[in-house]
Amino acid sequence: MITRMSELFLRTLRDDPADAEVPSHKLLIRAGYVRPVGPGLYSWLPLGLRVLRNIEAVVRAEMNAIGGQEILFPALLPRGPYEATNRWTEYGDALFRLQDRRSNDYLLGPTHEEFFTLTVKGEYSSYKDFPLRLYQIQTKYRDEARPRAGILRGREFLMKDSYSFDVDDDGLKKAYHAHREAYQRIFGRLGVRYVIVSAVSGAMGGSASEEFLAESEIGEDTYVRCLESGYAANVEAVITAVPDALPIEGQPEAKVYDTPDTPTIATLVDWANSALERTVTAADTLKNVMLKVREPGGEWELLGVGVPGDREVDDKRLGAALEPAEYALLDDADFAKYPFLAKGYIGPKALLANGVRYLVDPRVVDGTSWITGADEPGKHVVGLVAGRDFVPDGTIEAAEVREGDPSPDGAGPLVAARGIEIGHVFQLGRKYADAFEVDVLGEDGKPVRLTMGSYGVGVSRLVAVIAEQHHDEIGLRWPSSVAPFDVHVVIANKDSAARAGAEELAADLDRLGHEVLLDDRQASPGVKFKDAELLGMPWIVVVGRGWADGVVELRNRFTGETREIPVDAAAADIAAALASPNVR
Ligand code: ATP
Ligand code: MG
Repeated sequence: MITRMSELFLRTLRDDPADAEVPSHKLLIRAGYVRPVGPGLYSWLPLGLRVLRNIEAVVRAEMNAIGGQEILFPALLPRGPYEATNRWTEYGDALFRLQDRRSNDYLLGPTHEEFFTLTVKGEYSSYKDFPLRLYQIQTKYRDEARPRAGILRGREFLMKDSYSFDVDDDGLKKAYHAHREAYQRIFGRLGVRYVIVSAVSGAMGGSASEEFLAESEIGEDTYVRCLESGYAANVEAVITAVPDALPIEGQPEAKVYDTPDTPTIATLVDWANSALERTVTAADTLKNVMLKVREPGGEWELLGVGVPGDREVDDKRLGAALEPAEYALLDDADFAKYPFLAKGYIGPKALLANGVRYLVDPRVVDGTSWITGADEPGKHVVGLVAGRDFVPDGTIEAAEVREGDPSPDGAGPLVAARGIEIGHVFQLGRKYADAFEVDVLGEDGKPVRLTMGSYGVGVSRLVAVIAEQHHDEIGLRWPSSVAPFDVHVVIANKDSAARAGAEELAADLDRLGHEVLLDDRQASPGVKFKDAELLGMPWIVVVGRGWADGVVELRNRFTGETREIPVDAAAADIAAALASPNVR
């Protein structure tokens, strides 16, 4: 079928929308692919929906290719099963909860582990039924704290979620690798540049877990790589390389000093460099950050986090380390409640003496000596030795990871970059099978508990991600695999023979099996070219002035290359060009 611009439900905009910050958001709005409906909610207009459906088709084909069977759950789900796994509570404010007319509790599914598990339990009962891979492409709801960048982080979004069910760990590993490879094929076909990084499994529980991050400056995820070894991890998942413990014997006694007006690390370091007979840097100080933490359904509790003073606490790492608990920095009212907390001068001693849980950065090994708060305003202690003067309750991976830090595998320094999460694969193990006691009859006649994997792809997010990676200053540039149309034929000649020729060319391309967008509007060539560039079809055919000389122009929107094609064989020539993918 040929789609005519004169009939297409589309209005392009000249100006960027006021609230859009990232290029993909601006362009998808300007080019009329999506429209805002409410915070984190968007409608899909014809062009946008075509891209979404194309991505969906690639995802579906690759899931089917690894033996995935597609099913579909409702988005509206009863509370019960999420209560059984505690996720009704653990999901916190991100879960949309609602009630029906009989006051029964429901939620809008943020992800569907519970119902996949229960469904398999309901249908299957023998080891012979496994392995099993099920998936759906379905709308998810999350009341995100910060919906962002249009469809990149929506509150309603389309996800492909699959789940594998196996009777043993070996089966789970196979399913995991099958998904990992399917994802590589999916993102390859979609023309996305990405990296695979180790991830933390978060609220889902489970062990092995990796994320697929699309390389992008505007990404919310930071990952690090070691170029020597190929190690790559989301910063949330980086395990600090722990230094060896140092001998405690022979270390000087801890000594308390008057250090007036030194509530910050910078002022403390200045003081130390003038008062002590050695060079001191922020890395010699121990900064204690006070938080309150609340486990799902629990009470707020104090937590002290000690990190070397040259490092900030990284909010995402802290969040991942404490998940599923909520946390917040102590405010002045909180400090007022605990007189033993001398703000700006907090040390390990008062925390431990008052029963406050105290976790430290893994670099704070036994025998390390610190300059830190002495728990009185205007006082610090020098030479406080870990393992001698204080014994923390444990370690926490909360300090920032920096470029140049040693790779955990010891192979070299880390380099950092940003990305957008487009897929996540993880081995859940038996968390959900345990919660619902999903046993099947084993080969030896004894019950075996199922083990599961869970695998997500952000289908609607990918529309924004691809736009983000493939655009220029004048518009979108879709890879052939997802473009709304294969070719955009622009009539830029008022001559009736040229018009008729363009119509005929469009009809020929259509007959050859291509999706054709035909700009048949009564508008100036300039307006039409601008729109064609903005909309971003991979190939643009211009039937213009050259018509009189027997040629049309073929433009590759991706490379910018332009060539003239004789009218006689135009359809066949253009079809040959279209057959080669434009990305990679
Ligand atoms: P993020 O860290 O970006 O919030 P997540 O780890 O919560 O993502 P998963 O639960 O692993 O996401 O969901 C699977 C996939 O769904 C993600 O890899 C991502 O591509 C997509 N996704 C998650 N949240 C959103 C959202 N709010 N809007 C659009 N896509 C999303
Ligand atoms: Mg994830």
